[in-house]
Amino acid sequence: MLEPAPARLENKWDDARAERMSESEKLLYRSNLLGSDKRITNYGGGNTSAKVRERDPLTGETVEVLWVKGSGGDVGSIRMDGFATLYMDKLNALKGLYRGPAHEDEMVGYLPHCTFALNPRAASIDTPLHAYVPKKHVDHMHPDAIIAIAAASDSRALTAQIFGDRIGWLPWKRPGYELGLWLEEFCADNPDAQGVVLESHGLFTWHDDARACYDLTLDVIQTAMDWFAEKTADTPAFGGAVHQSPAPDDRRATAARLMPAIRGMVSGSQNMVGHFDDSDAVLEFVNARDMADLAALGTSCPDHFLRTKIRPLVVDFDPANPDVDATLDGLPAAVAAYREDYAAYYERCKHDNSPPLRDPNAVVYLVPGVGMITFAKDKATARISAEFYVNAINVMRGASAVSQYRGLPEQEAFDIEYWLLEEAKLQRMPAPKSLAGRVALITGGAGGIGTATAERYLREGACVMLADIDRPALGAAADRLADAFGRDVVRQVIMDVTDEGAVAAAYRDLSIEYGGIDILVSNAGIASSAPIEDTTLDLWNRNMDILSTGYFLVSRAAFRVMRVQDIGGAIVFVASKNGLAASPNAAAYCTAKAAEIHLARCLALEGAGAGIRVNVVNPDAVLRGSKIWSGDWLDQRADTYKTDKEGLEEMYRERSLLKRSVFPEDIAEAAYFLVSDASSKSTGNIINVDAGNVQSFPR
Ligand code: NAD
Repeated sequence: MLEPAPARLENKWDDARAERMSESEKLLYRSNLLGSDKRITNYGGGNTSAKVRERDPLTGETVEVLWVKGSGGDVGSIRMDGFATLYMDKLNALKGLYRGPAHEDEMVGYLPHCTFALNPRAASIDTPLHAYVPKKHVDHMHPDAIIAIAAASDSRALTAQIFGDRIGWLPWKRPGYELGLWLEEFCADNPDAQGVVLESHGLFTWHDDARACYDLTLDVIQTAMDWFAEKTADTPAFGGAVHQSPAPDDRRATAARLMPAIRGMVSGSQNMVGHFDDSDAVLEFVNARDMADLAALGTSCPDHFLRTKIRPLVVDFDPANPDVDATLDGLPAAVAAYREDYAAYYERCKHDNSPPLRDPNAVVYLVPGVGMITFAKDKATARISAEFYVNAINVMRGASAVSQYRGLPEQEAFDIEYWLLEEAKLQRMPAPKSLAGRVALITGGAGGIGTATAERYLREGACVMLADIDRPALGAAADRLADAFGRDVVRQVIMDVTDEGAVAAAYRDLSIEYGGIDILVSNAGIASSAPIEDTTLDLWNRNMDILSTGYFLVSRAAFRVMRVQDIGGAIVFVASKNGLAASPNAAAYCTAKAAEIHLARCLALEGAGAGIRVNVVNPDAVLRGSKIWSGDWLDQRADTYKTDKEGLEEMYRERSLLKRSVFPEDIAEAAYFLVSDASSKSTGNIINVDAGNVQSFPR
């Protein structure tokens, strides 16, 4: 079967809702409906348009305007401002300027001149494909079921067999002005056709009515899905399974060991973020007899390989005789061979004016029995690359079952990958943020300082895993941060820093979720207060366990992963002023904090050779946002100083040299500096963030 259940696409059009909409609103509605099902189009793939009568703001006359999805974005989540709007008469006038296929790229430069109503949304390269189809509504989708037809060696015959005259076929042509003219000519020659399959690319469908266009798109895709379901019902996919997958935990354990090693090898000017997928569709492929051969053919649809590189790296691993150490030993050579291959492809295909060679590392790593690992410059890109490779797997499954699967010819693939227009798009991308590609683990992440630090790192583009034992607070903090920064970049884990097994499990999760670690903020903490004669052994041990042993356990685990990655790292201990300065009635806490600080110094010494920096931030009296300052500690401190919470805040402020209160954000700022490149030459340091306290001056 091409697609497992649920088999049928759902028609979600609601006439009652659509009735009140303008034509452009209906276009938005249709686009979002189409994009809501990844079987209809892959993420960011495809586009939609409508030709709408609008009042010209200059002349007041009614003119025809093309509304078409603009450059970038995704039809599933597009909003009104995601559409470009262009005068149809001007788009038609461009035909007079066209100098032929060799000059089609220059036509992109004319598109801004056709803009209607000063719309700032840039028109995409696909604009002529919509403009010149003489129908009011046009959908261009990338459904796996259609691309499976488009990527078969006899795709023209298959298209005719499945759709008859209803849907036509056009040979592969890179999207652009010329393809727009091809579509116009096709429509003129085939006035009854309802759409066309583009070889190695996707589907076009059209209609003069918005809803009918939506219905048609669904119907054509469903027809292809049904056809494949019937044709492939009894055929084992990809030549049948030759590997068995181990249990999920074992798969994850293997992936958790491989990912930091790969990450280290592929992180260059920027660290890469990983993603792991062991879904059924992936396992079926990586376990199959034909996997390596099909993978070597490369992906077909341009959308696919722009995200996944033309082909994946198949990792040498035998799940029947699992030997992860041997696989790790072989990885450097495999990664180097992939790079050489990629550089040779560049050399073979480059033109005089091609942009320089880009990162030659693989994006997709297929591990028999285990699953698929992807690496990219950020989590969303790594995840989306994996989604695209699943699309490519679906395509290969369909095409290879009914025909012979064909990747795009190498030169065509290169010409898209290194297209000057594509390069211009890359050049326009904003510079990466200062922590882009970095992965941080923050213990005590549900607390005041932990959450503020997470927020600071997320603002700088990092991926963050919050670790804590306070489940409700952890969930609330992670939800709030995910709402603000997106689900991709926030993870949470219940982890008691004193529990060796829990620490190991959290690092395993982190490696699987993001590929490894660059930043550890060891911050989990408690506070306690008691005169020495009332300090129980339990209280003493609790302080030592959490503030000293816990810091040892999480750092040791970080060191282990960082050494495998071999790309350095930064560790910050959130200690305390009390680690340097004695404080009344808090011997256990102060001593544990002092041990923490000295542990940081020892680790700074040990880590320096591997580029692992270890520094300390010493807060003092951060009352707001801190849970420490809501329980017994508050009462005990208030009692010690014979005051209440407000009185304490005032007292600490007055006691400080700068006469200022210290907030979680102040600690976060220091914790940011100590992991950023701005402090890349600092290790073994202490930054006091305590508004000045002469007792705790480090020297
Ligand atoms: P907080 O109580 O708001 O946060 C501490 C977090 O650590 C809590 O969410 C708690 O659940 C978690 N935690 C406790 N034990 C844990 C364990 N065994 N495993 C995992 N997580 C555990 O307090 P905060 O002010 O944000 O404190 C953060 C760090 O700053 C602590 O190490 C604390 O000692 C230090 N510090 C705070 C102050 C201050 O005035 N707030 C001053 C000096 C030092």
